[in-house]
Amino acid sequence: MTSFPQFDQNSPAIVENTMMPLFGVELQQLEEIIKSFTLESYRPRQIWHALYKKRVSTLEEITSLPLSVRNRLTAAGYSIGLPKIAQTFKSSDGTERYLIACGDGETVETVWMPNGDDGEMGDGSDADSEEAAAQSATLSETLPYRRATICVSSQVGCAVNCHFCLTAKLGVRRNLTAGEIAGQVVAVLNRHQARIGRDRINLVFMGMGEPFLNYDNFMAAVHLLVEGVGIPESRMTVSTSGILPGIERFAMEKLRPKLALSLNAPNDTIREAMMPITRKWKIADLLAAMRAIPLRPRERVTFEYVLLGGVNDRREDARELATLLRGSDLQAKVNLIVWNPGPEIPYRMPTPEDVAAFQKQLIASGVPAFLRRPRGRDIYAACGQLKRTLE
Ligand code: SAH
Ligand code: SF4
Repeated sequence: MTSFPQFDQNSPAIVENTMMPLFGVELQQLEEIIKSFTLESYRPRQIWHALYKKRVSTLEEITSLPLSVRNRLTAAGYSIGLPKIAQTFKSSDGTERYLIACGDGETVETVWMPNGDDGEMGDGSDADSEEAAAQSATLSETLPYRRATICVSSQVGCAVNCHFCLTAKLGVRRNLTAGEIAGQVVAVLNRHQARIGRDRINLVFMGMGEPFLNYDNFMAAVHLLVEGVGIPESRMTVSTSGILPGIERFAMEKLRPKLALSLNAPNDTIREAMMPITRKWKIADLLAAMRAIPLRPRERVTFEYVLLGGVNDRREDARELATLLRGSDLQAKVNLIVWNPGPEIPYRMPTPEDVAAFQKQLIASGVPAFLRRPRGRDIYAACGQLKRTLE
């Protein structure tokens, strides 16, 4: 590194923004960086361990590294550069929603949901079994671990333009880097002093943005979270609106989260009216691409279905959806989500009776269907709702 930012006491935030973050850098890149400092060959691994296993926030905390080395790294313009929780909103149900600041002042939403939102029910994973165990535990029984799901953003805003979604109203401002995606998780784990290995932490990439339109950074973040932080990929679910080339690439990954497709409609006509992206990629092609994913034993793919009153919530829609999924030859389950209303969005919520009838119809037609528990309604917990409301 030949040039680096000068320290300016009056604008520390600007100096910080121009620092080069070490968080988000893979081991191989770290080795490259450290090479230029002529340090012992074990140093990159030591720093990597501090970044992802110890989850340090500052270079000063890496006490295994001599002070002189930490000073040299700082002088050369390096910092840990972990995204910071800028604002916290607490719900009466224990859910916490954060605006997390990235280097350039943009913020994204991240959510901590203690005990999850039942999203993993029936997907054949460990999280699914734990969900069932927690439900059958009596009040006097306390589990020896903490369970929580973190909902993670992949982009600032989103370009996909689903008509029912508030994030869509922001447009896409930029992709998040791998460090900014994995960094949301680490910032939230640190806030709750979560211990990987003891606590059961599940991740859902269902925050702001379309992960498969930021594919490389998203997958790099998954690798950091699995290989660095130590969260198994079988505890992660990525949700896509149906980016066909993304699903095709995903099917070839050796290490991959579980997949959820935001289907939201039983046919292309209804779907296109809600999700214009259907014009580009049809449901049949998305299902065919999903069939190419080699599933783990007991794994099921999830189909998310946001219920919009009078649009896709009729009994015949449920019947058509069941026929579609049973004919798809996929090990599938459906997560029903009651639409969270937002300003300037011309839809209405489904009635509780219609939601119950829809779920009943799917189950009667042989399709496992679960209702996602709404979390944090009082803190604008729907996708993109907080940022949009504050702006
Ligand atoms: N872009 C990805 C992941 C983020 S959206 C995707 O679309 O899958 C995550 C989920 O939130 C999607 O299933 C989407 O359909 C749903 N969603 C978006 N806006 C919503 C709202 N206002 N109420 C309920 N669910 C919503
Ligand atoms: Fe983007 Fe997902 Fe919202 Fe659609 S539902 S606009 S893909 S974030």
